[in-house]
Amino acid sequence: MAQGLGTYGTEVLVNILNQIGSLPTHNFREGYFPAADKTGGESLKATLLVRPKGCFSCVISCGRVTKIKNPKYASEGEGPEYEAGWCMGADSGIDDLEAITKANHLCNELGLDSISMGATVACAMDLYEHGFIPKEDADGLDLHFGNAETMVKLTRMTGLREGIGDKLALGSFRFASLYGHPEYSMTVKKQEIPAYDPRGVQGIGLEYATCNRGGCHVKGYTISVEVLGQGPNLDPRVITAKPFWVKLFQDVTAAVDAAGGCIFGTFGMDVGAQNRPTSVGSGVFDKSLQACKGVTPEEHRHWRDSIYGEIRSMMRRKGFEASHACQIAKAAARFLSPLCITRTAPGRCGLAGPDSKSRAGEPLLRIPPGDGRTATPRHCGEPQTGIAVDARRQQTETRDLKRHFFSRVGWPQKVAS
Ligand code: SF4
Repeated sequence: MAQGLGTYGTEVLVNILNQIGSLPTHNFREGYFPAADKTGGESLKATLLVRPKGCFSCVISCGRVTKIKNPKYASEGEGPEYEAGWCMGADSGIDDLEAITKANHLCNELGLDSISMGATVACAMDLYEHGFIPKEDADGLDLHFGNAETMVKLTRMTGLREGIGDKLALGSFRFASLYGHPEYSMTVKKQEIPAYDPRGVQGIGLEYATCNRGGCHVKGYTISVEVLGQGPNLDPRVITAKPFWVKLFQDVTAAVDAAGGCIFGTFGMDVGAQNRPTSVGSGVFDKSLQACKGVTPEEHRHWRDSIYGEIRSMMRRKGFEASHACQIAKAAARFLSPLCITRTAPGRCGLAGPDSKSRAGEPLLRIPPGDGRTATPRHCGEPQTGIAVDARRQQTETRDLKRHFFSRVGWPQKVAS
């Protein structure tokens, strides 16, 4: 995976998530985008990439320096990363890589968070298509999904707070609330959910729901064990064992963050490799931390076991209530509907074969073949009934999940039982 990150950047994830039908598309209406390959890391490398770029001393260098020569969007800068490429791409129904890259450059220059920006544009397009945004509010722009020029213009207008951009600058939750439909904002704690559909990757859904800072993937990146084949290589579509892994990832990530590390650097270490919490973080990372900064493994383990709860305690002291943690319920109606890749690709299978190449001629990275526990790609023609969960196990797992969830948000156990 580290090789893939260095070669194609984090945008390498576009085709991988699309293969398993969990690339949120059209503001999370679907999980499959037929034109995803045009926006992925393989295409970026073959067209706009100037050079990879890394943080200090990093051997992976997952960052991208890009240049657009087309006068329409001419610019040079950094990105897009996977999340920006997704929300300005598939989530907004856009397959124009130059437009996506230009909007990302604008976000850099105007100080905008690219996930919030792209996801808010997707939310606005959804509201517009449902008739909730009157034409007179659209400043003469066509806000339908797929309009790349509109997306670039909205990004600039938001940064400068011009026209409808003044409302978009509030973020998708407040924007959708202005038009009476907050349920079109795909957020937790008013923060936009990132690029993994929780219906297709159940553990990351629990991470979104319980993360201290809201809809966030990086504080508990279970994608590495649910999709990328790390450690126990879990089936992403079931909730089995996910409470354990979400808590583990949240605690370990807090310790890695506190040490100034990068979660990508933990992929090849022992996070997840030994299926028990006492061993996580006690291998390569602990040794390097001790060698570089003099932090003992015992101190590091203490960080791991205490930081996440400490942050939650601080939030509670500042007035954070349990009700704030449950704003994912606003989007529940959409997340309870089946996730279907064939809806957007009738009669066609969009999954990559062993020798598949991107439209730009680059080989596509593939997830490991399914063996019953791994992420089994869903081919067209299969009945798509949403997330497959073993009914007998569901009862036990749901109880565990509820316990974990309620302990994380600070509700009394009797409410959880
Ligand atoms: S430290 Fe992490 S984020 Fe920075 S370039 Fe390396 S892999 Fe990417």
